[in-house]
Amino acid sequence: MAAVEAAQPASVGDVSKPTDMPAEDYDKKCIFCKIVNNEMDTELLHRDEEISCFRDIKPGAPHHFLVVPTRHVGNCKSLNKEHVPLVKQMVETGKEILQKNNVTDLSDVRFGFHWPPFCSVTHLHLHVLAPASQMGFMSRLVYRLNSYWFITADQLIELLNSKGEAN
Ligand SMILES: [Zn+2]
Ligand SMILES: [Zn+2]
Repeated sequence: MAAVEAAQPASVGDVSKPTDMPAEDYDKKCIFCKIVNNEMDTELLHRDEEISCFRDIKPGAPHHFLVVPTRHVGNCKSLNKEHVPLVKQMVETGKEILQKNNVTDLSDVRFGFHWPPFCSVTHLHLHVLAPASQMGFMSRLVYRLNSYWFITADQLIELLNSKGEAN
C-alpha cells in the first residue's frame, strides 16, 4: 500500500506529481483521494479496488461512515445510468460495515448523498448513519430525507435509471 511513497530521484522533473497513478482516477487536490490512498491519518475500515470506507470526521450519529469509490468519481450530479451498479455496491458495503460494527437494526439507519452544491467534497460519497433515531437536531437537518439537499441511495438509483432512458 505504501508503494506511492517509494523514493523518487529528486532531480528528475516535477516530483510533486505522482507518476504511477492515472490522472483521471486520482485528483491530487481531493481529500478523499488522499484518504483512500493512505496519505492521511484516516483509518480505512474497508478498501478494495472499487470501494473504500472510513469514518466521517464530524459524526452526525453514533456510527457515521463515508463509503466512496476508490477511484475519483465526481458528485451525484455527474453520474449516469452506468453508475447504478457502483451506487448499489456502495450501499452493500455500507451495510457490511454497519454489521461489522454490530448495528443489526437496518431499519434505523440513514443512507444518502448530498445534492450539489451541498457537498463539501466533490468525490462521490455515501453517508451511512446509525442509529438514525439517535441523530441530533443539526444532523437531522443536514441529512434530512426528502429535502432538496439530501437524497437517499434509492432515490439516486431511480434518478440515474430515468436519466438513462431519456437518452
Ligand atoms: Zn477524489
Ligand atoms: Zn456529504
